[in-house]
Amino acid sequence: MNTNVTRDSECYRVTNALRVTKALLGILLAVMVFTGCAAAQNDPAWTEPFPPFHIAGNLYYVGSKGLANYLITTPQGHILINSDLEANVPLIRASVEKLGFKFTDIRILLISHAHWDHDAGSALIKQITGARYMVMDADVPVVESGGKSDFQYGSTPANLYPPTKVDRVLHDGDEVKLGDAVLVAHLTPGHTKGCTTWTMKVTEDGQTRNVVIVGSPNVNPGYKLVGNTLYPRIAEDYERMFRVLNSLPCDYFLGAHGNYFDMETKYARVQAGVATAFIDPDGYKKYVAERERAFRTELARQKANRAVARP
Ligand SMILES: [Zn+2]
Repeated sequence: MNTNVTRDSECYRVTNALRVTKALLGILLAVMVFTGCAAAQNDPAWTEPFPPFHIAGNLYYVGSKGLANYLITTPQGHILINSDLEANVPLIRASVEKLGFKFTDIRILLISHAHWDHDAGSALIKQITGARYMVMDADVPVVESGGKSDFQYGSTPANLYPPTKVDRVLHDGDEVKLGDAVLVAHLTPGHTKGCTTWTMKVTEDGQTRNVVIVGSPNVNPGYKLVGNTLYPRIAEDYERMFRVLNSLPCDYFLGAHGNYFDMETKYARVQAGVATAFIDPDGYKKYVAERERAFRTELARQKANRAVARP
């Protein structure tokens, strides 16, 4: 009897301990899920340094492993594409200086699109360099509100950043000129309303070739392509973007993230002596075609789900 009572109370203690452990595990799991989400938003590769390198002509890579930045140099100062997270600004600066250029000679700052991983550091770069900030018209309200007016991430505090004043509003087809450098801004909307694909020409070994720096063709998780009240034209804009990307002549295939164009593999080939590794017109066509298929699959899936949801 006594033994039983003892067993019962032991059993009770064990059960209670299990309950406490379960509750603690639950909290731990919740924390892991939460931090996991945050990590999914900010990939550790984004702030991982990467060696700066010459691409062709007056075009250089000065980004991190996961976030691409491009420096276009001229005797009249330089153009920088993308400012990344604020934490990346010292990395970009170190890369520019490692190549032998002055960070404070950056006169113009451009972006691929108004998402925090490409534009959160813009206020800081403007403050350090005094560069003029030039942004595609439809991305201007997002940049100037520090991300608050973004249709997808506007109410996610982790994706907001210092509001930054735009000095020149760009429109589709506008040229950005500095010294002998000319960049063309192509509106390639969908991923953001003012997503911009930059093109320029570079001359290397007497040959002039076309550069394409893709803004982003991606449909992010959670993007509503059907019935999006904050961005009703989103699906048409993606269609437009793919028409534009399909029409651009491309030799040097580049983009807002190195993984668009398999940067690490190509960089290794350059290091191994293949100076032309970044010339990849076929890779560009394949990439755009694959991204277009992914968009069409997702659009069809969302349309089918909507049809089922309706009586
Ligand atoms: Zn983005």
